[in-house]
Amino acid sequence: MMTFDHTTLGQRVLFGAGRAAANLAAEVTARGAARVMVIASDRERQIAEQVSADIDVTLWHDDVVQHVPVENAERARRAAAEHDIDLLVSAGGGSTTGLAKAVALTSGIPIVAVPTTYAGSEATNVWGLTEDTVKTTGVDGRVLPVAVVYDAELTLSLPVALSVASGLNGLAHCVDSMWAPRADPINQALAAEGIRALAGGLPRVKAEPRGLAGREQALYGAYLSAVAFASAGSGLHHKICHVLGGAYNMPHAETHATVLPYALAFNAPAAPAAAARIAQAFGRAEDAEDADAAARAAVAGLNDLREQLDAPQALKDYGLREADIPDAVTRILAAVPASNPRTTTTENLTELLTAAWAGEPARIHPHARTTSERA
Ligand code: NAD
Repeated sequence: MMTFDHTTLGQRVLFGAGRAAANLAAEVTARGAARVMVIASDRERQIAEQVSADIDVTLWHDDVVQHVPVENAERARRAAAEHDIDLLVSAGGGSTTGLAKAVALTSGIPIVAVPTTYAGSEATNVWGLTEDTVKTTGVDGRVLPVAVVYDAELTLSLPVALSVASGLNGLAHCVDSMWAPRADPINQALAAEGIRALAGGLPRVKAEPRGLAGREQALYGAYLSAVAFASAGSGLHHKICHVLGGAYNMPHAETHATVLPYALAFNAPAAPAAAARIAQAFGRAEDAEDADAAARAAVAGLNDLREQLDAPQALKDYGLREADIPDAVTRILAAVPASNPRTTTTENLTELLTAAWAGEPARIHPHARTTSERA
C-alpha cells in the first residue's frame, strides 16, 4: 500500500541559457516591483550586473558572508528597510541566496533568485543563520523565492573544483532525501532523477567547463535535488554537515562533497530500497539484485563518480582538526533524526567522522544493518 502526505511548494521556475536578463525583467514587471535590491557578493557582481541589465536597481548590496552571520543579516535588513525595498533579487551562490532569505524572513519582501552554483537554496523554504559558531536553520514560507531564474551561462565562470564540490552538494540533497524524515515516493522520484542528471552532467562540466550541455544538466539536477530536499527534510548527512559548517566554519560545498560517501556507506545497508534506487540512478541497476548488493552498488556508483571528478577527499583539508571530532560527534548525535535508518551512536559516528577526516576510502561497515529501513 502507498500512503503518504506530500506538500509541493509553489514557485515559478524560468529555465533557459542566455535568458536570465529577459526572464528577470519580465518577472519584475509582472510583479509590479518598483524598488529592487540586488544582493550579490563582490565576486558575483559582474554576473549580477549582466542579469540586471534590463531592470532598475534601487540598491546594490554586497555584504555577503558564508553561513549568514546574524550581524550581516541585520545590516541587510536595515538597508532594505531604509530604501523601502519591495523586491529582493539574489544573484549568486547559496550564501547570497541565504542573505536574501534572512531579509525576507523578517520583512516578508519577496525574492527572485538567480542561482549561480548548484547549492539549491533557491528552491527551498529553509533559512540558515549563524551566531557564536552555532548555525540555526528553520523553515518559513516567506523565504521561499517566488521565482527562480536559471541560466546555465551564469555558471560557466564557476571554477571546476567549486563546480564539482557544489554539484556533489546537490547530489547530497538527493541521497539524503531517500531516507530523510519526510521521504515519500514523490520526493524520492525527484531525487532519483536529480542523481541521474548530476551524475551525467558533472563529468561533462569537468571535461568541458565552458560547455553548456553539462552545465545545463547539472543545473537541472541541482534544482531537482533542492525540491526533493525541501520536501523530504534533513537527514543524517545534512545534520553532520550543518554541525561542521556552523561550529568549525568549514566550507559548505566541500564539506558536503567530502562527507557524502561516508553517510551513504553508513546508511545504505540499513535502507535497501533507497540503496537500490540510488544504485539504479547511477546506472547500476543490474548490480543491485539483493539488499547487500544494492548497498555496495550505490556506494560504488558514488565512489566512481567522485574519482572521475577528482572530488574533495578529507575533512582535514578543509579546516577540521582531529581534536574537534569528539565535540562534533556530540553535536551531531543530538541532531540526527530519530527516523534515520541506522541507529547512530558515539562509537559509529566517531568512526564515520574519523574516516572522513582522514579521507580513508568510504566502506560499508560489516555490522551496518542494525536497524531496518522505515520506508
Ligand atoms: P557560496 O554561495 O558561498 O559560493 C562559493 C563561492 O563561489 C563564493 O565566493 C561565490 O562568490 C562564488 N561564486 C558563486 N557563483 C559563481 C560563479 N558563477 N562564478 C564564479 N564564482 C562564483 O557557496 P554555495 O555552496 O553556493 O552556498 C553555500 C551556502 O548556501 C551555505 O551557507 C549553505 O548553508 C547555504 N545553503 C542553503 C540551503 C538552503 O536550503 N537554505 C541549501 C544549500 C545551501
